Amino acid sequence: MTLAKMSKGNAIFTDKFKENKKLYLDLVENGQHPKVLWVGCSDSRVVPEFIVNANAGDLFVIRNIANIIPPKDAGENCTSSVLEYAVLELKIENIIICGHTGCGGINALIDGTPTDFKIHDWLKHACPAKETAKNSGIDPLELETIKENILLQAKNLLTFDYIEKKHNKGELTIHKWLYRMNSGKISFFDEINNKWFLLK
Ligand SMILES: [Zn+2]
Repeated sequence: MTLAKMSKGNAIFTDKFKENKKLYLDLVENGQHPKVLWVGCSDSRVVPEFIVNANAGDLFVIRNIANIIPPKDAGENCTSSVLEYAVLELKIENIIICGHTGCGGINALIDGTPTDFKIHDWLKHACPAKETAKNSGIDPLELETIKENILLQAKNLLTFDYIEKKHNKGELTIHKWLYRMNSGKISFFDEINNKWFLLK
């Protein structure tokens, strides 16, 4: 997309803004009250608001390479600040970890990255998922690693005391979702059956 196209795009958006003035001005006057924190990949093809048909104000969002939540002890400040604000201030009720098929970040993890690149350190937070997927022997390794990474990052959320507490009290639900780029459909991980099912 060119900048010229983006400029025209904003003109189109401002028309839509006028049509939906009530929604947008309500968000300005009364603030945001999203109930969902979305943790997704930076991939330009996986746009949270598009794939669940959400409006402005609906989703609080973290996006990074391979939808990663470094555990509390990793001392990483970016994702943990978003978690703090979402859970403690906005009091969101659901966290969705959404990975996706064809994830370039996961492929880089499988293929290996130069050790002097930042991505190398970042993807270390997904390494255990690759190992679990390898040990499972399930084919293809890419899809299995993507799935295991979603489960791993959901587990990492619980390393933050305030998330674990709310989760245990039933005030916060953690969802594990997989977006399938070739169909637009989303699968979720069902803990009881230990299986992935399509969202209904
Ligand atoms: Zn990705």
